[in-house]
Amino acid sequence: MDIIDHNRVEKIFGNYIRYEGNVTKFTWIIFLGLILEDLFSRVYIAKQSLQPSLIAVQLLLYVLLVGVSLMKLRSIKNESQKLKTYYKVAKIVEVVMTVTLISTVYHSVFFYFVALLPLAFISLSRGFKRAVPYILLSWFVQALSQYFVSLWLNTIPLPSMFSDFFFFSLTITIQYLLFSLFCYVWGTVHSEYSRSEEENNILIERLGDKYVQLEQAKKEIQNHYDKMRETNNQLEETNRRLTSSLAEFYTLQQISQAISSIFDMNELLKFVNDVIIGVMGVYHSTIALCHGPQNKLKVQVSSIFDKKELAIVSDYINSEVLKPSTHDGHSMIDNAVNPEDYPFTQGRNIQSMICVPLLAKGNTLGIVLIEHSMKDAFDNDNVRLLEIISQQVSIAIENARLYQQMHDLATLDGLTGAYNRLYFQDNLQIEYKKAQEKGYDLSLMIFDIDHFKKFNDTNGHLFGDLVLKSISNYIMKTLRKEDILARYGGEEFVILMPHTTLEQAQEKAEDLREGISRLTITDRVISASVTISIGVSVFPDAASTPQQLIKSSDDALYEAKHAGRNRVCVAPPKMKNENVG
Ligand code: GH3
Ligand code: MG
Ligand code: MG
Repeated sequence: MDIIDHNRVEKIFGNYIRYEGNVTKFTWIIFLGLILEDLFSRVYIAKQSLQPSLIAVQLLLYVLLVGVSLMKLRSIKNESQKLKTYYKVAKIVEVVMTVTLISTVYHSVFFYFVALLPLAFISLSRGFKRAVPYILLSWFVQALSQYFVSLWLNTIPLPSMFSDFFFFSLTITIQYLLFSLFCYVWGTVHSEYSRSEEENNILIERLGDKYVQLEQAKKEIQNHYDKMRETNNQLEETNRRLTSSLAEFYTLQQISQAISSIFDMNELLKFVNDVIIGVMGVYHSTIALCHGPQNKLKVQVSSIFDKKELAIVSDYINSEVLKPSTHDGHSMIDNAVNPEDYPFTQGRNIQSMICVPLLAKGNTLGIVLIEHSMKDAFDNDNVRLLEIISQQVSIAIENARLYQQMHDLATLDGLTGAYNRLYFQDNLQIEYKKAQEKGYDLSLMIFDIDHFKKFNDTNGHLFGDLVLKSISNYIMKTLRKEDILARYGGEEFVILMPHTTLEQAQEKAEDLREGISRLTITDRVISASVTISIGVSVFPDAASTPQQLIKSSDDALYEAKHAGRNRVCVAPPKMKNENVG
């Protein structure tokens, strides 16, 4: 059974539908013309009388034909499932009506071609094979109708009915064979069209497959690209971390190298401060250390150049806002600095800051404060790096402090804070050499408290200790940086004064003697004063060696004691001394 492929029919009909409509409408006009021509031929050519029954039959057939063809056209436009049946029925009826109408026409033999129109169209639109049943139907209906119409109109004489019918049918058959040939030619157009249509469809299908494959390949490429991009991002991130780790490593190496090679604490802190600025690209970096019994922060080094700005930082560095760092030992980060909260940022455009404490054994030694003029300038990596740097710096500060303590223990006198005898001996040699090389005066005074044994007996040894401390403190305050005060014996002190002539030393000794004699030493119960005797000597005038310098000063002191105490005696010039010796 021939099942209509609706899609295909629609496709083909889609192409021909507009022609089918036109062909049908032309057929109506042609048939109207045929009816009129028939009337004209019969009346004026064949001189027949008017036959109303024939005209009525022709008009009836015409109306039926129009009705059927309208039904056919509607069935084509209407895309329902019944399309096949409606179309077939309409087409059959149309063919029957057409050939019957032609058969009623006087010159029908000339108008068989009219039947060809719908048949040729079927062949063109649906193929020759589909047209064959309609051609057969047409042939059959044509032969019958033609015959009966001829009988009805008495154009065939009754006795020769059969032989006439044979030739009559033969004529029609030959004509139909020629029709079929003509329809076949149109059918080849259809097959050609269908074939190219099928080829096109195959091509489109293949193209579709290729397109799907292409899309698939595109997706795979996109996936690969995405994966590559992800890998690339990971690589970049790893690279960034590696670079920053390297920078950190290099920074810390630089700092540890500095710690082992720079012994001056201020110089070391300055170096570290510069490294922090260089590595972190910060606006300012400041290191402040704790001082005094209250652990007050004092700016030690800072990149802040402007003196006024630095003074503001120094004044407000102990503000409450830094307490989490200074008191609790926590790091602080603020990437949206409110200047009102941070008084030390006054007058400077600071938007971000990190404050990290310098910690040693749980104690805060100070802080490192870095600042930036940009908002959101810092992240946790910056805090971490600064903490590592601070740990190293803290260890260096702690070591330096321990070293200072040991150095003090080794060089200072525990009771008075003056240098000890050992330190004095070493420095006498050094200072003596320098004075000798550079040719300047080096003065030395030795002083001893008068009647101190008795003083101790009267006021107690502890109070005597207080006197020693008080005298030492008093003298230290009056000395220059380069002068060295040392405890030489029990209550005997020496003062070594570079770049000082005998006259200057004598004058200084007088001032000290007088100052001490006026000094009242007080504890809770006792209030007392002491006097001192001083011997002064000078290099090169009174001594040629360090030993001689001590000896001549000691001699002068002895002289002062003998002369009645509470006085200053100077060593005589060398020449005189040597002559006497
Ligand atoms: P002079 O005027 O001759 O010097 O009489 P002096 O009594 O001071 O005699 P000297 O210089 O020999 O005295 C030493 C005394 O100094 C002995 C001791 O009682 C006292 N002295 C020494 N060292 C200390 C110390 O560390 N503390 C105290 N409180 N007294 C000391
Ligand atoms: Mg004494
Ligand atoms: Mg003495």
